[in-house]
Amino acid sequence: MYDIPFLDLPPLDGASGTVRLPGSKSISNRVLLLAGLAEGTTAVHDLLDSDDTAVMLAALQQLGCTLRRDGAVLHLTGIAGRLQVHEAALFLGNAGTAMRPLAAALAVLATTQGGRFELSGVPRMHERPIADLVDALRPLGCAIDELGAPGYPPLRLHGVAGGQLATAQPIRVRGDVSSQFLTALLLALPLVAQDRDVVIEVQGELISKPYIDITLNLLARFGIAVRRDGWARFTMAQGSRYRSPGSIHVEGDASSASYFIAMGAIAAHGGAPLRIEGVGSDSIQGDIRFVEAAEAMGAQVRSGPGWLEVHRGRWPLAGITLDCNHIPDAAMTLAVMALYADTPTRLTGIASWRVKETDRIAAMAAELRRVGAQVVEGPDFIEVRAPTCWQAAAVHTYDDHRMAMCLSLAAFNPLAGAEPPVPVRILDPKCVAKTFPDYFEALFGVATASAEAVPVICIDGPTASGKGTLAARVADALGYHLLDSGALYRATGLAAQRHGITPEDESAVARVAQFLDLRFGHGPDGSRAWLRGEEVSAELRLESTGLLASRVSAIPAVRDALHGLQLSFRRAPGLVADGRDMGSVVFPGARLKIFLTASPAKRAERRHKQLISKGIPASIAVLRADLEARDARDANRPVAPCKPAEDALLIDNSELGIEESVELVLRHWQQRQPFAIPTAAPAASTPALLSTTPGKPGNT
Ligand code: C5P
Repeated sequence: MYDIPFLDLPPLDGASGTVRLPGSKSISNRVLLLAGLAEGTTAVHDLLDSDDTAVMLAALQQLGCTLRRDGAVLHLTGIAGRLQVHEAALFLGNAGTAMRPLAAALAVLATTQGGRFELSGVPRMHERPIADLVDALRPLGCAIDELGAPGYPPLRLHGVAGGQLATAQPIRVRGDVSSQFLTALLLALPLVAQDRDVVIEVQGELISKPYIDITLNLLARFGIAVRRDGWARFTMAQGSRYRSPGSIHVEGDASSASYFIAMGAIAAHGGAPLRIEGVGSDSIQGDIRFVEAAEAMGAQVRSGPGWLEVHRGRWPLAGITLDCNHIPDAAMTLAVMALYADTPTRLTGIASWRVKETDRIAAMAAELRRVGAQVVEGPDFIEVRAPTCWQAAAVHTYDDHRMAMCLSLAAFNPLAGAEPPVPVRILDPKCVAKTFPDYFEALFGVATASAEAVPVICIDGPTASGKGTLAARVADALGYHLLDSGALYRATGLAAQRHGITPEDESAVARVAQFLDLRFGHGPDGSRAWLRGEEVSAELRLESTGLLASRVSAIPAVRDALHGLQLSFRRAPGLVADGRDMGSVVFPGARLKIFLTASPAKRAERRHKQLISKGIPASIAVLRADLEARDARDANRPVAPCKPAEDALLIDNSELGIEESVELVLRHWQQRQPFAIPTAAPAASTPALLSTTPGKPGNT
């Protein structure tokens, strides 16, 4: 996951391959709550691991459920409808799928069994209305205190044991602002339907019906049959009782699939399709109907149980006019597909966007305009026209995972003929953790970019200048790949030695370099490396291996053999390449070349500290003499001498700490970017309290 302030996506020009989707958020949190309330233990397979499920799991644990992880399977033992804990303060982040149903379940349990529960979340959660649920629960006799603004969390739910719930009359709930209130009641009321049928009546036209279908489907899996009369009346039979199904599988997230379906429609234009695994023709999620909308815009989709394959069809895409009431979340992706259409796209029936993680209509309009689109917005619609002139934009994401994932699709602008192609800066990219922590990794796994489009930063310098540390830190800060080219020469030296080949046998060493089976990875204590599957991290760092590297790296055939391997590190989103000829030979077109240096005295001092900290005795004077001798050798050797590339920026870090050096490089990098200086997040990220009046869902 990219836990960095921004992630720059280079212009992307194709997509193919396979993506495996994470579990559905809607299904995951419903399954967790059902398993938590049920009798028995449920083995949950393919659960989504995200911010929203984490808060639900933490809440269930606080309530006395027990969890056991067994590899990818979570075993959850429920409370069998009996409160184990009667007092708790639950923090639910920004997870609407945790707040609403837990509020309903704990309200009815506290009323009948006694208890006192406080439910709160992040500030945005306290701006998301819950009045319709509170209004449905109070007439039943539930005591609910609004601890902040009336109609919004945080809430306190309390009652004394033996209290009665007034369930003889139908329970009324509004269904025209959010279907989550009805879902919350459907999940909570089976707990109190032992003695009589319980009836829920929906007032107003129910929105987002497919989500209610998911709820009913999962209730059935946990032993609760709900009779549905149209979409207005739901009856839970007397004697309803939650029972674990033993084991349950969470299907992939259909809303998350929408980004890759769109990507296929936009960018799978070579031979191979974009294959999406985890969700398919047998999905119980309403957002699977996004496929039809994408097809109407031009996507070619094949599907089977648990999979989809998408190709580009019509190109450019065709604009559509669509009432999106049935696919509220995935519809956001259509607004971004509109960037690639030759006619405008108008999405209606999306008033609920205004009360989601952010005011999504305002947010989408603001950010699409930033990349150059023309956008008209209204209380419950958005209309988008493709850019005539694409702009390099830093897009705000409003702590809204879907904004981040949607706007990433703007990086395919070269396919829309953007001249010049532009990168897209995603601010706060880690917000995708709400539903798809590895979204960007999945994107880079299937998207292609031309080599010239992928930015490279080269960092070189003499031995002990700190270039390795600086390169790693800059790569981390930008979310870029790292090429430690010295490690390739070190590994070649090591592999040759293991084969009994001496550096004098130049062609044999070159062959070793050509077939080098080297893999890099990350560990808690820095980078790790494996040679033919065997970990060699420690051996690579040995001084003796450095000497071997220095000898094999002077063989031109070895340098040639490693050239292709080095080029292959240039992958989206970008590369920081550390080493000798990175800027002069391997990536001569790199956008930023740094030559890092420090006085021999400073470098000797640093190396001394390093050795002493590892318990290796050393003398500063000897180290300094060694360094100076090596500098002279390195600067004068005929093959790849150690000297700055002509257009390199010289940084003397004798007096700089590592943080300052990183800052300095990032500042130079920032100056080379086409993005405007980041501005404060626009008003849509901090909306005023939202009204729940239909037709006027947001009063921002
Ligand atoms: O940077 P590191 O100390 O790991 O590099 C080991 C040796 O490999 C260097 O001393 C240098 O002689 C050689 N090298 C090279 N070209 C590179 C990187 C390292 O010749 N791009």
